[in-house]
Amino acid sequence: MNCPLLKEETRSLLLDYSAGRLGAAEAATLARHMESCDACRAFGLEQTAVWDSLDAWQPGPVSVDFNRRLWQRIDAAAAVPWYRRLLDSFAPARRLPALTLLIALLVLAGGFLLDHKGAEPAASNPVVHGVSMTEVDQLEQTLDDIQLLRQSDPAPPPNGVSRQM
Ligand SMILES: [Zn+2]
Repeated sequence: MNCPLLKEETRSLLLDYSAGRLGAAEAATLARHMESCDACRAFGLEQTAVWDSLDAWQPGPVSVDFNRRLWQRIDAAAAVPWYRRLLDSFAPARRLPALTLLIALLVLAGGFLLDHKGAEPAASNPVVHGVSMTEVDQLEQTLDDIQLLRQSDPAPPPNGVSRQM
């Protein structure tokens, strides 16, 4: 017999042997192998010690009012409102990921606000004679663009310059 510890799929044979779940022929074959294999013999001894400990363990006696106290605690837990249970779900062990998420959201919101500035204050965009400085800048930019197009196009435009703003 090949050593069952050498292959992953045969390692459970030793557990089954220790638990008494193997057939008589298979158990006898494994017992003969364990006489000559130190690793399997040591494994078998450890498993025997575990099973002996489990057999020796005796649960403590249940108190007389165990059921009554258990049902009181279950009823008390069921009587807690849903929002209290939600708050309890943010127990100290769970606060750190929530705090991290909150900080990440604040950083993203700050970046968004810096990137997408709202309307500028009126002081930086004064209105002179009914025309704001922004409109003047746009007009100047458009005229520059038209001048650039004229310089790059050798043929003159057919009916003057058509302005599109
Ligand atoms: Zn072995």
